[in-house]
Amino acid sequence: MSAPRVIAVDLGGTKLAAAVFDGEGAVGRSAVEPTDLSGEDAVLAQLERVIVTLEEGEFAALGVGVPSTIDQRTGRAVASVNIPLEGVDLRDRLAERFGVPVVVENDANAATVAEHRLGAGRGSRHMVMLTLGTGVGGGLILDGRLYRGSVGAAGELGHITLDLDGPPCQGSCPGRGHLEALASGLAAEILAERVAAERPDGDLGRAAAAGRAIDARLAVELAAAGPGDARDVLEHVGFHLGVGIADLVNVFNPEVVVVGGGFADARELVLGPARNVVAERALAPARDEARIVPAELGSEAGLVGAALVAFDALAEGD
Ligand SMILES: [Zn+2]
Repeated sequence: MSAPRVIAVDLGGTKLAAAVFDGEGAVGRSAVEPTDLSGEDAVLAQLERVIVTLEEGEFAALGVGVPSTIDQRTGRAVASVNIPLEGVDLRDRLAERFGVPVVVENDANAATVAEHRLGAGRGSRHMVMLTLGTGVGGGLILDGRLYRGSVGAAGELGHITLDLDGPPCQGSCPGRGHLEALASGLAAEILAERVAAERPDGDLGRAAAAGRAIDARLAVELAAAGPGDARDVLEHVGFHLGVGIADLVNVFNPEVVVVGGGFADARELVLGPARNVVAERALAPARDEARIVPAELGSEAGLVGAALVAFDALAEGD
C-alpha cells in the first residue's frame, strides 16, 4: 500500500494555492490562482474546483488554511478579514463533498505549525509567531503544541492593544490601536504616505513626486538604500512591533519569536528596532531568553502547515 497523501490548500486574500503532499513534501500536482473575491459562492466553488483538479487517485485528508477566525467545535469559518467567508460551515461542507477528514485552520496558525516543525522554530517547545502582511496574524506553540484556546480562536496576536486611543483596526475588528493597526505592512504604507506628503524633500517625498506608488515595498526598498525618511518609518513600525513582542514575551516566555509574512521582507530594518525595545522593556529573564528571528519558509508556510494539520488529523484518527 502506498503512503497516504493529503491535499493542502492555502486560501488567501490574494491567491489560492493548493498542492498534494505525501509525508516527505509536495508531490504531483499543484495549483496557484488569484482568489475569486466576487462573493462567498464564488470562492467556495473555486476552492472545490481546485481540489477536484488535484484529485489524482486517492487522497486521505484535506487541510485548508483560511484568513478567518475558526470555531473548531464546528469547523465553521466565523469571520474573515479579506475574503468573503462569514459563518460558513467549511469543514462539514468539504467533508461531505470529498468524503475524507478535513481540517480547517486559521492561516497564521497553519504557518505557525509549519515554522515550528520545519522552519525557524525547529526544536523549540514555546514559540510565538507573528505574520506581518496587510494585517498581523499570530500563532502560539505552548508546551510543544499549537494553542487553540477554548473554541479554536486563540492566537489573534495582531489584536493586542498598544495604544488605547490609536487608529481603528481593520476589517471586522472593533478595536483601536492594535498591533495590526500600528505594525503591519498597511500601517507602514499609511505612515509612509503621510511622511511623503509632509516632507517633499525626503526620500519618500521625492519618490512620490516622481510618480511612484508609496507602499510598504517602496519604503523597504528606500530604507535599505540608506538613512532617510523611509528608514525612519520602518524604525517607527519596528518600535511598535517591539512593544507588542515585549508584551508577548512577558506573557508567554517563549524560546523564540518568529516573524514572517510578506512585510517581513523588511527583516532587520524592522526586527532590529523591535529587539531593542524588547531588551529595554520586557522582564528578565524572559527577555534574555527570547530569540527574535525571521521566518524561514516564506510564502509556503501556510500551505505546508495546512498539509501538516491534515496529516495530524490522520494520525489522530488511527
Ligand atoms: Zn484589531
